[in-house]
Amino acid sequence: MTCIFCEIAAGKIPAQVIVDTETVLAFRDVSPQAPVHVLVVPKKHVENVLDLERTDPDLIIQLLNAFKTVVQIENIESSGFRIVTNTGDDGGQSVNHLHFHILGGRHMTWPPG
Ligand code: 5GP
Ligand code: ZN
Repeated sequence: MTCIFCEIAAGKIPAQVIVDTETVLAFRDVSPQAPVHVLVVPKKHVENVLDLERTDPDLIIQLLNAFKTVVQIENIESSGFRIVTNTGDDGGQSVNHLHFHILGGRHMTWPPG
């Protein structure tokens, strides 16, 4: 089964890449919900956040480092931002490859819908 984010990570499908490391890719969401809407994904296929540490604990630090680089590049470090990972059906996960949404550039409402 093809995975859209595996394809993006492999460079087979184009994306607006913000951060590209050996293990992590950050790229703009195709349907942005805020002025800044970046997705941060591990390059290797991990289903969701619960599978992350079982797969590779070092990846957690690498993802955190990428979050920091993204908010610095996008200039939302001091204005604030939200990081979300939707998981499973009730969480609204539509792509079954772990991804963190980084949203910023506007005031976020709470709770989300
Ligand atoms: P989820 O609903 O799983 O939390 O988030 C999936 C996100 O991936 C959505 O915000 C959607 O807009 C984004 N997305 C889906 N397909 C593509 C694509 O081909 N390219 C990019 N850049 N984003 C995508
Ligand atoms: Zn994948």
